[in-house]
Amino acid sequence: MDWSGMMDSILVLTHTDENSALTKASLEAVTASLELAARLGASLSIGIIAVDPAPAASALAATGTRLLAVSGKAFAQPRYASDAAACEALCHAANATIILAPSSSRFARVAAGVAHRLGGVIDTHITAIAGSAQPEATRWFYRQRIEAVVTRDSRPWFLLLDSGTHAAYSAQLGTANFEHIDIQLPALRTTVTGVRTPQSDAQTIRPDAELLFVAGAGWTKKQPDGQTHAAEAGEIILNFIHRTSASLGSSKSLVDQGTDGAPVLPFLTHMNQIGQTGATPRHAKGLSTCCHGEEPHVVGWRFIGERRAISLDPNCGWARGKADVVYIADAFKVMEKVNALLAQSK
Ligand SMILES: Cc1cc2nc3c(=O)[nH]c(=O)nc-3n(C[C@H](O)[C@H](O)[C@H](O)COP(=O)(O)OP(=O)(O)OC[C@H]3O[C@@H](n4cnc5c(N)ncnc54)[C@H](O)[C@@H]3O)c2cc1C
Repeated sequence: MDWSGMMDSILVLTHTDENSALTKASLEAVTASLELAARLGASLSIGIIAVDPAPAASALAATGTRLLAVSGKAFAQPRYASDAAACEALCHAANATIILAPSSSRFARVAAGVAHRLGGVIDTHITAIAGSAQPEATRWFYRQRIEAVVTRDSRPWFLLLDSGTHAAYSAQLGTANFEHIDIQLPALRTTVTGVRTPQSDAQTIRPDAELLFVAGAGWTKKQPDGQTHAAEAGEIILNFIHRTSASLGSSKSLVDQGTDGAPVLPFLTHMNQIGQTGATPRHAKGLSTCCHGEEPHVVGWRFIGERRAISLDPNCGWARGKADVVYIADAFKVMEKVNALLAQSK
């Protein structure tokens, strides 16, 4: 159906974490939906999926919007059948034409299926929504080389928002009435028996971390004593990541080294790679170490706010205007000292 010219009704889907608090990505989607609803002059509802929606409703009370909740033990764990049924019921209850949702693993799994059930359309990896007559959603294509602005006349239109693109909604807790939406769950064939997570040192890609720490190929290159020190480099890097919970990124040269037969850091994979052919993360701060700061790498830093680099080379790319602060120094020595200071401060 062509909905052009009709007034939109916006629903933002949110879910809680294991502590019954709304996830940060959900709160970011709430901010995006409040901004969009104000610009379009459209009605807004917030859908909550939680075991107990009361704490989430209290956190959203100050929005003054209609709150709808699907709740119960079945929603303690992500599961396709129950989450899809909950999202579908919330969309029906809100009579929604525009549905925003955070791109959490939970919603990313079900959103396309729910859009299909409702005869709607979906766009993912949305980084911004502009427009005052109708939504104009921005996303990147082709490894962040092409930025597109998408508009659609079809409804319902689902928009999955990338995390880190909006400020998380925050306001005083209040008393809020929310409407319970009853749903008939389908037969649940999947039972969640537990969660297995990688060890904290293995899970090094952390989109929600405040700091991105990037390791470059210099860590495994011959050092002034004529030797390589890959094992020591690995210890220093993991020690820092462990102490700060920073996210670990890498240059392409460093993650490629395994295939080139050079010393490797076993905890790095191509998933850690930042740059033109890697990831473009959105951390508030970034620290580059033993990396030259060449353009194909630095384009991956375009959304990093404050940038610092440690390099032995005073002519490296970072020193040519790509970082706010460059320390021309030996990263082994600097990071050992930083780790010692971090250990003291604990
Ligand atoms: C089409 C294309 C796509 C590409 N995509 C990407 C991409 O997505 N991501 C990416 O990263 N690269 C990419 N590259 C490669 C990129 O051009 C560079 O080759 C790569 O980023 C270099 O990695 P590096 O700076 O870690 O290594 P190097 O160039 O080897 O630099 C190592 C640096 O470490 C410094 N150093 C050594 N020891 C120390 C020490 N003890 N203390 C401090 N500093 C030290 C050296 O002075 C040097 O500056 C791409 C290239 C092409 C052609």
